[in-house]
Amino acid sequence: MAKTTTPVTVQAGNASRSGMKLILANPRGFCAGVQMAVDVVSQTISLLPDEKVYVFHEIVHNRHVVGRFQRKGVAFVEALEDVPEGSIVVFSAHGVSPQVRELARSRRLQAIDATCPLVTKVHSECIRYARQGFQILLVGHANHQEVVGTRGEAPDAVTVVESVEQVRSLEVRDESRLVYLTQTTLSTDDAGVIIRALKERFPQIKEPPSSDICYATTNRQHAVRQIAPECDIVLVIGSKNSSNSVRLTEISQNVGTPARLIDDVSEIDWNWFKGNETVMVTAGASAPEDLVAELCRALLNRYGGELEQREVFNEDVEFGLPASLKRLGKSRGVDLENSRIRVGAPVITREAYGSVPLTVSARPA
Ligand code: SF4
Repeated sequence: MAKTTTPVTVQAGNASRSGMKLILANPRGFCAGVQMAVDVVSQTISLLPDEKVYVFHEIVHNRHVVGRFQRKGVAFVEALEDVPEGSIVVFSAHGVSPQVRELARSRRLQAIDATCPLVTKVHSECIRYARQGFQILLVGHANHQEVVGTRGEAPDAVTVVESVEQVRSLEVRDESRLVYLTQTTLSTDDAGVIIRALKERFPQIKEPPSSDICYATTNRQHAVRQIAPECDIVLVIGSKNSSNSVRLTEISQNVGTPARLIDDVSEIDWNWFKGNETVMVTAGASAPEDLVAELCRALLNRYGGELEQREVFNEDVEFGLPASLKRLGKSRGVDLENSRIRVGAPVITREAYGSVPLTVSARPA
């Protein structure tokens, strides 16, 4: 994995305006893990034009991404028993437990693994610490698919911790053999509070080698923290079951700016606006850019105004394709060995956003 996320330090100009001011956050929307998962399903469909492709759980937590694949014939299932024996099944970006992999093998399913490499990193840490005899306190949401998958790597060694209250009542086997890990898409604020409580109660607790909360989650949250205070409202494009999207609204509320999470422009309640507001627009890591553009066009068509893209971090992240997809490609005579998924800054095109007054500005992160 190649990864650079550099804070932007260049300042550009402002424009005078009437109507609404939209501040569009960069970074926003698709992260490299989501882009990879989406590409894995797209490539699987094109490699197997005559076969039904199944995906275990939503490939990413976004209603539009899932709907677009459903319209191409992809079936999303919540149980592997619903996948006919011998079929192709894609595991979602959130990862799966070894028990799911074993069930897939026993049903002779051909599994293509679209797990984000940054989720796989947490699985590897979980396996390593469990082998070393540690009890693992996994900070996260117990029912989230990522946490279910990570816990499944060492169910006897993992205790999921969801809140500070839970930290107070935790019973541990041996305080000198404790480590904490976290879900990748938590609020850095909330996770920080729980981690502080863990460290206070268990001073010897070991930390992961580097933060498990991923770069995309951290950067999108930081952009909200930085931009939201100068806005009247924050609009987050994302689905209600997208952990990182929900966290963006919470971060905004934490800094005192109301925030709304909407799947797309159709969920706008126009009573939210008078028409002269400063509005931050951002998107969770699983939300497609065309929905962001559609929202901005609708707001500016209705109220007029201007668009500013605020550069907080320039992300330039690259992942390789999963080995299972490369093998599938090879079996179909398609060489994917050197294919890479690269995600940089979203580009504002006149085609997508229409013709609006646009400035690009940056503040030191
Ligand atoms: S949000 Fe982070 S962990 Fe989740 S898919 Fe994106 S990069 Fe991977």
